[in-house]
Amino acid sequence: MNTNLYLKMKEKIKEADSIVIGAGAGLSTSAGVNYGTKDFDKLFSELVKKYGFTDMYTSSFYDFDTEEEKWSYWAKHINYLCIGMSATEVYKDLFELVKDKDYFVLTTNVDRQFLKAGFKEEKIFEVQGALTKIQCANACHNKIYDNTQMIKEMLKEDKNCRIPSRLVPKCPVCGGNMEVNLRKDNFFVEDDYWYEHEKSFQKFINDNKKKKILFLELGAGFNTPSIIRYPFEELTSKLKNAYLIRVNNKYAFVPSDIKDKSLEVLGDIARVIKEIRD
Ligand SMILES: [Zn+2]
Repeated sequence: MNTNLYLKMKEKIKEADSIVIGAGAGLSTSAGVNYGTKDFDKLFSELVKKYGFTDMYTSSFYDFDTEEEKWSYWAKHINYLCIGMSATEVYKDLFELVKDKDYFVLTTNVDRQFLKAGFKEEKIFEVQGALTKIQCANACHNKIYDNTQMIKEMLKEDKNCRIPSRLVPKCPVCGGNMEVNLRKDNFFVEDDYWYEHEKSFQKFINDNKKKKILFLELGAGFNTPSIIRYPFEELTSKLKNAYLIRVNNKYAFVPSDIKDKSLEVLGDIARVIKEIRD
């Protein structure tokens, strides 16, 4: 890759008063927190045999017959992509890159990698939820619960892709089923924590709107472009001193009206971050 491009990136990061990181699925894929892992067959042979699953993404839409089977699956999913995984290299590199800067993170990723890598919790807005949280499936109340301990219990007692009925989580208010707190339909619960972080994000943009604000977008494609990609383009266009660096292994292009205040970086995010960190 072009050395000049790396130099330009470094320069923009250095001169920025504040940095907004926008992280989509492409970042975690590059980090190896991968839903379509090539070792899926080996790691989850039971799931392959029983349901014909091929990866952790498509399998998460499966309609299980029983809650015992559903939670057996989710315990494996959550443990593999989140609880059992420590901070990956690229997230650690990213933290080293911005830790002394005034930063804020907006992410659609649910794997908690930013938190694990050392980013301050109050500076991370996880728009789409997180794998370590559960909510009422009917969204009967807007409270979210941590699932780390229950997932560990489930894994311990899992047998033939089922957990014991006594470990199936039930809503403490309506007694109904629970779901992982991931945005997939209108039942997604946004609790006080979610609203506080949304407010902090808006405040960060507002406090920095006149300064040299750098939008560092990493792996945000077209699954949910209205959360990171489009707003970053709009803010870059609107704010006089804003600049956008878009790193993407497929869709690095930017609209023509912001060409002169942005950088298109086509390539593997992990490699790019490593290059500019050194
Ligand atoms: Zn409920």
